Amino acid sequence: MARLSGTSRTSCTTCEVVHSDVATILGPTAPDAWARVSEGERLEAELTPDVCILPSGGLIRYFVRGHLQLPLTDIASESFTWSAWVELDEASMRSVACTWSDVNRAASPPLTGRLATELPYQEPTSGLPVIVYTRDVGDAPLLMVSPGSSHELATEQRDGVDLHRAAEFACLLHH
Ligand SMILES: [Zn+2]
Repeated sequence: MARLSGTSRTSCTTCEVVHSDVATILGPTAPDAWARVSEGERLEAELTPDVCILPSGGLIRYFVRGHLQLPLTDIASESFTWSAWVELDEASMRSVACTWSDVNRAASPPLTGRLATELPYQEPTSGLPVIVYTRDVGDAPLLMVSPGSSHELATEQRDGVDLHRAAEFACLLHH
């Protein structure tokens, strides 16, 4: 996991800790639905670091992992990234699969999906509509919470977070 080492040598004005080793990307290795299906369904599922195809109650559900970036307000051109899963419909998943190794895939039109990862916010993040921007081969797609959302995650994606908040995410995620 990427970290920002030695970023701050002075103590934080919010908590007085020196945030010198902050994780810059956090997130689970499977969509939340993975834990809710039966063992038999998991045996039939496909799970890679980037894609999950999950039988669930007689349906097949499709997920991709993307990067939801929050600019860091106190460090120029750095950001904190939620590595989060998004549920796509079958047609969108087919388009992701068809262009997976295409060198021009970043030119694909954006897709829409719904967040499938519960992130540590007051309001639930699962089900939030997101726009999925395909990037070059090897890069996870970028996720944007739909414009107009009043969710705190949308606000933080637009306005950014400070180093204190980014340091807090690691604690919040594990509680
Ligand atoms: Zn702090």
